[in-house]
Amino acid sequence: MYEDFPTLKTKINGRRLVYLDNAATTLKPKRVVEKLKEFYYTSYSNVHRAVHTLASRATVELEESRERFAEFLGVSPQEIIFTSGTTMAINLVAVSLLRSGLLKENDLVLTSLLEHHANFVPWLRLSRFHGYRLEYIKPSGRFGTLEMDDLMSHREKNPKVLAITGLSNVTGQRIPVEELRNIFPNAIIVLDGAQLLPHERVKPKEIGVDFLAFSLHKMLGPTGVGVLYGRKELLEQMEPFLYGGEMIDRVSLEDVTFNELPYKFEAGTPNIADIVASKEALAYLEEIGFEVVHERVERLTQLALEELSRVDGVELYGPLDERQHGIVSFNIKGVHPHDVAHILDQEFGVAIRSGHHCAQPLMNLLKEQSLLDFPNSTCRASFYLYNTEEDVRIFVEGVKKVKEWFS
Ligand code: PLP
Repeated sequence: MYEDFPTLKTKINGRRLVYLDNAATTLKPKRVVEKLKEFYYTSYSNVHRAVHTLASRATVELEESRERFAEFLGVSPQEIIFTSGTTMAINLVAVSLLRSGLLKENDLVLTSLLEHHANFVPWLRLSRFHGYRLEYIKPSGRFGTLEMDDLMSHREKNPKVLAITGLSNVTGQRIPVEELRNIFPNAIIVLDGAQLLPHERVKPKEIGVDFLAFSLHKMLGPTGVGVLYGRKELLEQMEPFLYGGEMIDRVSLEDVTFNELPYKFEAGTPNIADIVASKEALAYLEEIGFEVVHERVERLTQLALEELSRVDGVELYGPLDERQHGIVSFNIKGVHPHDVAHILDQEFGVAIRSGHHCAQPLMNLLKEQSLLDFPNSTCRASFYLYNTEEDVRIFVEGVKKVKEWFS
């Protein structure tokens, strides 16, 4: 596998790269990069329009990608909308629900304090303009752990929309997504799968989720591609998010009629080559097996938690049990997370993330609970299929050294 990811051969200050910033974005296997090159050199053209050979090759390749993702999720290709990423997908859902009247003034939108800004800011800002009510599920468990009771306590509120992450990008907590439909039988459920989908196959229809959004760059694919699954009955009722070419059927001076699904939601020229190469990322993961990826990441996560919990002065966050997957958030007492991340990079070749992780509401909650030395910041190591136990060892040794140097 090492050979499949040439970036792993990069040297950082003469040391082997230990890449532990996978929750931000993953490295790319050769197969994805080669597909991009091959596609640009042999089949690149605009899609869905011209009748020439290249156009039809490009269209076939792009639609094949859609079919692969539809199969992966167990849904119809008509329910797969390509976006630029999770952020755009969630904006699309929120705006289109509002424009079509499926979400109205005084309705309740429920989200949580675990959310990435991508699933928080759109709902917050749009509530200002559209007058729906917004409430937040507050995690009551240790370091921002969302407990079942936290979800249950909102059950009676009967929200119109529930917008929630499947896995926290700060604490790595996996949310019991299978329970959401039971708890909120009438809600339109919007699942932010940006962190969950890289690690497991989710079947939105089986778990009763109406919308599911994720980003390919977090699962070995190129940047600039997001997949949005939307339940057909809802998509059919929804007004498009962007207007322009491709999404129309007929245009007159008075009005337009819309193209069929999913094109109604894909205005403009799509990110053709990256969408095409995305199917190679999915194929790579499927060939290795999501179960294998899951098992490996789980082992590395538990190992890192175990090792770090033995280091005096290291504060660990999150549930610290089997609910935590792929992400380890921590601080070294008295040392700023940016210093930790900088030294790990420069002295040990270890790439981790430090900062608020685009989740300021959660950081604010932790600050209120006096859990953070430095407001708004933790260190975050995140694992993926090409990481090894040796990577965890180098990372933990690095953390110990940083701690020593600062004490
Ligand atoms: N949701 C979660 C949970 C994330 O972790 C991220 C990115 O880190 C996003 C949404 C946004 O993804 P993108 O920037 O690819 O749109």
